Amino acid sequence: MERMHDTAAIIAVGSELLSGQITNRNAAWLANKLFDIGVRVSSHIVVDDKVADIVDVLHNATKAASYIFVTGGLGPTSDDLTRQAVAKFAGVPLCYNQESWRHIEMMFARSQIPVPESNRQQCYFPEGARILINNRGTANAFDLTVRGVRVFVLPGPPREVEGIWQEAIHGALASNVDITRRSVIKMWRTIGRGESHIAELVESIATGSGIEIAYRAHAPFIETKLRYLVGEQLRFA
Ligand code: ATP
Ligand code: MG
Repeated sequence: MERMHDTAAIIAVGSELLSGQITNRNAAWLANKLFDIGVRVSSHIVVDDKVADIVDVLHNATKAASYIFVTGGLGPTSDDLTRQAVAKFAGVPLCYNQESWRHIEMMFARSQIPVPESNRQQCYFPEGARILINNRGTANAFDLTVRGVRVFVLPGPPREVEGIWQEAIHGALASNVDITRRSVIKMWRTIGRGESHIAELVESIATGSGIEIAYRAHAPFIETKLRYLVGEQLRFA
């Protein structure tokens, strides 16, 4: 497998996801956002909160992706092992960040609860990581580049993922991505003709043009989606 430019793998960590107790909304949400700025998502992976398993999937993801997004397992309890796994994968130690402790104190001060000592573990980040402030929770996120792959590590709760993406990731990433790789999507919803009939009409025009075609039967409608890249030369017969 060849590593592709502007391609991302999304890794969600957590046994609750594996067992189906919760649905991997973070991956769907991030995939949509990445797609919008022209980053192709090559895989969604769900992995148990075990250091060896997380390290394994990180290694695998670097084969195809230039970005990796990890969500979950940045909490203050003993089952939150993502930061240890990412440090191991990067081959660097975890370093204490005093500002993240002040961030946690501030979060607890809002609800006038004393800070449990176990939250201290949320102040450790792999050496060389850039810390991304989480304004909706105690776990700051981080990003670091490992052997040419940029790895973003975010907490699990969806509203925290969304806040960090908007405030600390989206702008920088969007300006990095080649604008000609951004997708254009045209979508039609039709009624009264079957999927195969619509496909015959569309394909007689679009086959070989370089446009990606997808159909979705969504009773009583047929959705036809055409997708191409902003910078792509389309060819019509
Ligand atoms: P916490 O401090 O809350 O433990 P964390 O960063 O350790 O945060 P997790 O323990 O993995 O994250 O998840 C916390 C909660 O966030 C989960 O119980 C679940 O409700 C939600 N969550 C985690 N991962 C996902 C996901 N991929 N999609 C949707 N919700 C998720
Ligand atoms: Mg947790």
